Amino acid sequence: MNDGKICVSVAAATVAELIGEVGRAARTADVVEVRFDSLNEGELDVFDRAGVASLLKTIAAAASGRIVLSTFRAPEQGGNRAISVAERKAFWNAVDYRGWADLEEDLVELAAPAVKICSHHDFTGVPDNLDEIGERLAATGADVVKIAVSAADAADPIPVWKLLEKARAENRPFIPIAMGESGKWTRILGLAHGALLTYAAPGAGRETAPGQVSAADLIDVYRVRELNAETAVYGILGGNTSVSLSPHMHNAAFHLHNLNAVFVPFQVRDLDAFMQRMVRPATREIELNFRGFSVTIPHKQTIIDHLDGLDETAGRIGAVNTVRIDPDGRLTGFNTDAPGFIEPLLNSYGDLQNARVAVLGAGGAARACVFALKQNGAAVTVFARDLPKAEPLAADFGVDLAELVIGGRAGYRDFDILVNTTPLGMKGKTENQSPATAEQLRGLDLVYDLVYVPFQTALMTAADEAEVPKIGGLAMLVAQAAEQHRIWTGLEPPVKEMSRAALRRLEIG
Ligand code: NAP
Repeated sequence: MNDGKICVSVAAATVAELIGEVGRAARTADVVEVRFDSLNEGELDVFDRAGVASLLKTIAAAASGRIVLSTFRAPEQGGNRAISVAERKAFWNAVDYRGWADLEEDLVELAAPAVKICSHHDFTGVPDNLDEIGERLAATGADVVKIAVSAADAADPIPVWKLLEKARAENRPFIPIAMGESGKWTRILGLAHGALLTYAAPGAGRETAPGQVSAADLIDVYRVRELNAETAVYGILGGNTSVSLSPHMHNAAFHLHNLNAVFVPFQVRDLDAFMQRMVRPATREIELNFRGFSVTIPHKQTIIDHLDGLDETAGRIGAVNTVRIDPDGRLTGFNTDAPGFIEPLLNSYGDLQNARVAVLGAGGAARACVFALKQNGAAVTVFARDLPKAEPLAADFGVDLAELVIGGRAGYRDFDILVNTTPLGMKGKTENQSPATAEQLRGLDLVYDLVYVPFQTALMTAADEAEVPKIGGLAMLVAQAAEQHRIWTGLEPPVKEMSRAALRRLEIG
């Protein structure tokens, strides 16, 4: 357990809605931040002192004993509407209760709350003079300094994290925030490293700032209250981590084994900067106690340059989806896509010796699939839309190559198994597209779609229509994650719980 607090931030257009939101937030929050600036114009007359005082009392009652943190933010500091300085002054002059308050630097001398936070928000990036801003805010005499910056890459929050470390060393309460998906790690790991509180959304899709995690996820998935500086940190490194199921699977496994470990999304654009500034022992600027990573698009190949060694499978495939960091700082790369892919196939189909397999697509996932299929004695043909681009794959693994023309082939009757490794059918633009029709699938023994969102893809529906048994991508996703768990912890992965956690998240959407 750490001493940090979870602060659920609530916003609403009307006073009645705001009171309702406070009541709901109080069920999970230690602190409820009330964004009075979110109210529509005319909802609250800030010049009516008695009216403001009465509303604050009602809100305090709705918060049923939780700390209420009032905020009435200027628009340039993230406030919801064009609030004048006169209105802001009137609001703070009317606040006469003993809750907490978050004021901007220009009005910080107003109000006398039980705890005064002085905050600074930057919605464009990380200011160069962050140290100076931090010192200025500390000099105001506020009880707590809060600095929120915007992160476009996972290493961007380093300066604000350093301010947290400094404040902690000097025993000063501090709240660091890096907004955006790339800054999510600061919201998850902050309490473990001494942040006074971390802000949370009341629910999924109800964020009051970019990158906010829901209170339920902070508590149940990331278990932020239980983390500390000794917590082993794992994470997914990817170009887009916002929809990843990996945090849900891995944190469920860590929880079940009762490990002091957490799995965090790290949305990384510049992999060199991330590895140099945050991971490599000789050059890193902050200490997060990293023990391993899942690696996904677009870093599966480029990560290799940053590792000290590869296991044989990763070396043969030429791609890494798993990194283990040993206590001495050594980084080793593995590929669990290959075993993760083959395990459900062997379970479903049995012996693959001489099985004729059509693999659609020739990207990174195809490499792992083809490697595993060849290892198991299958006869593989890769179908690719860009033949010259796919030639190295065919040559590396000694398999046949054919052109992939969607809808342009009579069928796959001369094959036993069809594997889709293209993203066709994935949630988004191509969700309703299938790389093969039911007619083309007739006669196959098995269809295996690597796509896992949605759970039932257009290809799987076509397989149902053709009465061909099918395996969906979730089976591989869980199996590759289970193998990662084994590599990182040496423990038997709780596969059922990992699968359930992924499914639960898919259902939530
Ligand atoms: P990738 O490296 O980008 O490869 C995608 C392949 O599909 C490329 O050969 C690409 O051809 C081809 N492709 C893309 N769009 C196409 C289209 N409209 N028509 C025909 N071919 C098309 O991606 P990846 O890492 O291999 O991942 C591929 C899919 O597998 C993704 O949906 C991913 O989510 C899924 N996956 C699932 C798991 C799992 O555990 N279930 C694991 C890994 C990957 P070009 O090279 O010509 O663009």
